[in-house]
Order: sequence, then structure tokens, then C-alpha cells
Amino acid sequence: MKLIRFGEVGKEKPGVQLENGKRLDVSAFGRDFDEDFFGTDGLEQLAAWLKDNEGSCPVVGQEVRLGAPLVRPSKIVCVGLNYAKHAAESGMAVPKEPVLFFKATSAIVGPNDDVIIPKGSEKTDWEVELAVVIGKKASYVSKEDAMDHVAGYVLHNDYSEREFQIEREGQWVKGKSCDTFAPLGPFIATKDEIKDPNNLHLWLKLNGETVQDSSTSDFIFNVQEVVSYISQFMTLLPGDIISTGTPFGVGLGFNPPKYLKPGDVVELGIEGLGTSKQTAKAYQG
Ligand code: ZN
Repeated sequence: MKLIRFGEVGKEKPGVQLENGKRLDVSAFGRDFDEDFFGTDGLEQLAAWLKDNEGSCPVVGQEVRLGAPLVRPSKIVCVGLNYAKHAAESGMAVPKEPVLFFKATSAIVGPNDDVIIPKGSEKTDWEVELAVVIGKKASYVSKEDAMDHVAGYVLHNDYSEREFQIEREGQWVKGKSCDTFAPLGPFIATKDEIKDPNNLHLWLKLNGETVQDSSTSDFIFNVQEVVSYISQFMTLLPGDIISTGTPFGVGLGFNPPKYLKPGDVVELGIEGLGTSKQTAKAYQG
């Protein structure tokens, strides 16, 4: 099943996308895609409800805006430097255990919303990433059991302000949490749709030119290892997002580095998880 949310900002409704690309409004099911939904068999109940009600669900036009495909979760946990070539382009060593950082959940936007270059930013950069959606509370979970705690997967662009992240003092969170820095979607693909999350093609284009083109088979720490690892330090709640890191080809790695300017168009995709597109705009305020 592919979960979407659609409509105006802040007024999104839940929907599903069918195999033929048609989108249906499932608000009559009565539940939005939030912690409670993922944590109490919402996926199974929705699938059962759809069998009986699909025919009476209103169709959502292709022109309707997509929001992020879930209600704002309790946290976004990101893995840094999880591809060896990306660690090298960042001038950092390949980590011995996963590097973790948070991204503010207020950064979440729809998959095709504009990315706002923050006030004072000159180094706004892109990062295509496979994000995991947690389906069941996870605390001290083993690698072997990790997949039982996964609901599905979603495309994420982990936008990053490199000056805020690296040149300013302290933690990376400052360069990762600006408004619009977490476009999620177009949809969440449930776990059954993705045979092996550790072997998916992922790519990103800047103004039509491919800059990232890799596979999650190059992960240093795979999905099972990352879910298990994070759960040793915090409880992952249903609906939480884990972003698994980006491959080689970010703007920071170019010589000279390449950063976003107003009007730039960023398109990205992951095998089985669709594509998204953001246009860069200057901060106004
Ligand atoms: Zn990242």
C-alpha cells in the first residue's frame, strides 16, 4: 500500500495511491497517519477497509498538492556519513559506529513544496536519502527483530546548511532543521512493497544534471543495523522517521562547492518510492 496525504498546508487529508497512479481520498476511514495509526494496526485496518470501500472513495486529482505522507512524528533521527564515498567527499573518516543527529520535525514539508534558502544562508545543500518509518515501538531491539518494527519507507531530501552545520560551533542539528529542510514523499510504501531496502537505486538531479546516483547497497550500516542501533539509545515510536544517510554527490563535495541559489530545481527519487521535486526560493520575512 502507498500512503499519501493531500490538500492545503496544514489541512492535509489521508489518501492512498493505487498501482495505476490513481489517488484516493480515504478520510472516510476516520484516521490520519499518525503515531496512533501506525502503533495500533492502522495499516492492516485500512487495507481491510479499502477492500470494501475503495469504490466509494473520492478520486484526488493529480494537480492537488501532496503533503508529507504522515502527521508530524515525535522525531526524525538521521544517520550521518553512512556511505563511504560521501564520508570521503565530506573530508571525514568512515565511522566505526553510526553517527546520529536529530532534525527538527518542524522542517517537514510536502515532497514538491519549495525549499526555502534560510536567512543568511550561502551554503544550502541537498542529500537524497532513504527514510524508514517506524511501525512499532522499538527499545533495545536486535538486528534480527528490527524489521518487525518498520512500517515502511519514504523518500527524503535531508537539506543541509553547511555553514550552520559545520563551520558554526556545536552540533549538526543547526544546519539540518531549517523550515522546509525535510520534504517527505510522495508516499510511504509499506514494508511489503520493498523487497530489500538495502538494495535500492537512489538519485538526485540539480537543474536536470545528475549529481547523486548510487544504491543503498553501499550502506556502511544497513536498515536493520541502524534501527537496532538507535533503539539502544532512545525509544523509537510509531511514525518516527529514521533517515539513513546520503551517498556521494552533495554540493559540498564539488570543487569548488556548489550550493543552491533561488530558482534552482532539485529532483530526486528512489526505486519503488517515487520522485519529488523542490524549487529553491530565497527567505523572505
Ligand atoms: Zn543526511
